[in-house]
Amino acid sequence: MTSRTPKILMLHRVLPHYDPDNYYFQRGTAISWQRFIQLLDHIEKQGFQTRPISALSDSPQPDSIYLTFDDGYADNASVFDELLRRNMTATLYPAMDFVRTGFSPIDDMAWHLMVASSLPDEIKQSLINGRLKKLLRKLSASRYRSLRQSWFHIETDAPSVFLTESQLVHYVHRGIELGFHGVSHRPLTALNEKEIKHELELGMAWLRQLSPSPIHSICYPHGKYNALVLCITRCYLHIHLTVDTPTTDSQVYSRIFFQEMGSLP
Ligand SMILES: [Zn+2]
Repeated sequence: MTSRTPKILMLHRVLPHYDPDNYYFQRGTAISWQRFIQLLDHIEKQGFQTRPISALSDSPQPDSIYLTFDDGYADNASVFDELLRRNMTATLYPAMDFVRTGFSPIDDMAWHLMVASSLPDEIKQSLINGRLKKLLRKLSASRYRSLRQSWFHIETDAPSVFLTESQLVHYVHRGIELGFHGVSHRPLTALNEKEIKHELELGMAWLRQLSPSPIHSICYPHGKYNALVLCITRCYLHIHLTVDTPTTDSQVYSRIFFQEMGSLP
């Protein structure tokens, strides 16, 4: 019997050191470099083969493990260098607007909260527990900037934490696969049919410019999908990924949220 639950790991950032005060470690969206190396050593020791997400369409190989990185963070450059050095691979899901503008509302707010002690502690708590994040993820960058100004009197943007397009091209040509993860990174379930199609047309055209190989997969921003989203996205992409929650559709793959603490896959 072949397993219907392939080992697909969900990662975001890989930062030099573990820091319990860092927003990304608190949200579980960063692991330390040490933890990353522990994972790669484990993969080698177990005899697993890292495969790109497109390989999910082939007949399943029991030794497969799939590493996925969401959002396109700049620290992934050293990650890919290390993977390629070990003849390993991964699939990257960059959000188009984050890469092209070097800006994301949630990452901007996280940076301001980490550097500015003047911001209220409740704001930090609500970003970490997801309440503020839920609000921010639906905002356009311009709406966010205007609210940031009126709420906190902050005018400057955080420095970019994202890879550039030329870095994406560099890694794609060396064997890192790209998949679709939205243009604005807003949940597709918050958009209407026309807006979902617009994200797909725009985002897919962008990915095709960057990648010589076809784009096969979508990783839903924030893991969010519903019947309408599935129906539309199926016309564009045949492999569908969500976060670590159980899937409500047999054609959507759930991922293992790989964090600093916890067992190895
Ligand atoms: Zn994302």
